[in-house]
Amino acid sequence: MNKGEGIKSFSLPKLRYDYNALSPYMSEEQLKLHHDKHHQAYVNGANAIFEKLDKARKDSVDIDAKAMMKELSFHIGGHMLHSAFWDCIAPAGKGGGKPGGAIADLLINEFGSFERFKKEFSMAATSVEGSGWAVLAMQECVSRPLIMQVEKHNVNVFPGFRILMDLDVWEHAYYVDYKNDRAKFVEGFWNVVNWDYVNKVCAMIK
Ligand code: MN
Repeated sequence: MNKGEGIKSFSLPKLRYDYNALSPYMSEEQLKLHHDKHHQAYVNGANAIFEKLDKARKDSVDIDAKAMMKELSFHIGGHMLHSAFWDCIAPAGKGGGKPGGAIADLLINEFGSFERFKKEFSMAATSVEGSGWAVLAMQECVSRPLIMQVEKHNVNVFPGFRILMDLDVWEHAYYVDYKNDRAKFVEGFWNVVNWDYVNKVCAMIK
């Protein structure tokens, strides 16, 4: 294989539902902006850094490693977390409620009850300082789920822990619909969370 041959770029995943499918919890305008503009920007950002890296290698010039790695971590983190997020939500009427199956067992075993998990996850989401995420991830080494409170897209991340579900609480995720009321957006999320998808991820881990 020639050097550089077969290299792929990051690309924006298509949503599995229409932009208006999550209304009233997420409006068409909000979802379209979020997916087409904000997520796309992280895809572009990651690809741009790889282009810079490729060029620097080709020209044998040094890179500003610290700045570049930091930026790359931010953009790739943004791309991966958003990609998971779109799968973690379902059209209004098809998601939400209490989970069943493996995820229900996992949550009850860890948190004592689904209600306790929901409370802890909501608290993690509403209290992120600035922009970030609440993420439910699996610590496969001890078979226990845990909640990560991610700042930006890449701070407080535990490496290698598989994402079961995540919730974007950047202001760009809700400003059209909820203005500054993050707590109300988080409340809305519980009506569209896609437990079927989360159960599929669970099944892949076990
Ligand atoms: Mn976002």
